[in-house]
Amino acid sequence: MNKFVLIVLLATLTGMQLVSATEWVVRDAEIMGTTIHTEVWHEDIQIAQEAAQIVLQVMEDVNQSMSPYIETSELSLLNREAASRAVTVSDDLFSIISRSLYYSDITSGAFDVTYASVGYLYNFRQSVRPTKIQRMEQLAGVDFQHIELDKNNNGVHFLHPNVKIDLGGIAKGHAVDRAIDEAKALGIKNILVSAGGDTRIIGDRQGRPWVIGVRHPINKQRVIAKIPLADEALSTSGDYERYFDEDGVRYHHIIDPKTGDSARSVRAVTILGPFATDTDALSTSVFVLGPEKGMELVESLVEIEAIIVNQQGNLLYSSGLQNIE
Ligand code: AMP
Ligand code: MG
Repeated sequence: MNKFVLIVLLATLTGMQLVSATEWVVRDAEIMGTTIHTEVWHEDIQIAQEAAQIVLQVMEDVNQSMSPYIETSELSLLNREAASRAVTVSDDLFSIISRSLYYSDITSGAFDVTYASVGYLYNFRQSVRPTKIQRMEQLAGVDFQHIELDKNNNGVHFLHPNVKIDLGGIAKGHAVDRAIDEAKALGIKNILVSAGGDTRIIGDRQGRPWVIGVRHPINKQRVIAKIPLADEALSTSGDYERYFDEDGVRYHHIIDPKTGDSARSVRAVTILGPFATDTDALSTSVFVLGPEKGMELVESLVEIEAIIVNQQGNLLYSSGLQNIE
């Protein structure tokens, strides 16, 4: 007998009022090259089901517009045309590019969506990477200052012919925030939305917080921290997500825009904060910045906390997390 049936049965036997015994609606899907997971509760289960459906639809929409692998996506069009003319894009794409440039600014270019000008030469599934010479050639296109935005017309113009952008470091968080907004508009007050390493939670699990386990990057069975969360977002970036090893060197998907090579001063970064767009961009940023500069940035931002796993496998916590287990 499942728990729900048991509660209904007990309630019937004791004459109890069933206030919140509706089930949680749980959905999983493979979208944006990652696993989407959502758990929603509403006293009217049909509303919860509708919200779960909308969450998946938002993920699908963001993928169709921002995937570099879909030729008809707005992003692909931008990458084809923005070097020759200013391209007018949707509000959504414009806002995510603006937000990306903000993160480029505050990280001195560690977060830079134009990393893709060299990033596209990697294929982690097929163990393909650029040579040093190829990297050097492509680096000319890597600079967020090559992106010119025209706020009045949603215009995006690339000021260098080699520029390509990729939003993989921020788009999932952005999609999670959009999905949460849509669910809230339906009256949802308890929801978890997760897109791969990016998660956001609204409310709690009937009076108890959600407990999120952060895995150790090397020993994946080990949970390095269990964090109780309510009304919070959390993103993790790691060198174990998309990678291959060659001659003892790990080539993975987080690229240092200064070198065009994978960033190697940490193994994993988890960021906590109010919005998934920010925790997503910051987990990638801090990964590139490394432990010292990364933690300095985190400490300078309000409501942002971090757990960094350094190259030696040690855990570094930001000041607001010192008492976590
Ligand atoms: P995440 O898993 O959120 O850290 O995002 C990693 C993804 O961000 C990669 O798969 C790339 O699509 C993208 N990316 C890699 N390096 C950078 C960088 N330096 N700045 C911005 N985005 C990046
Ligand atoms: Mg990220």
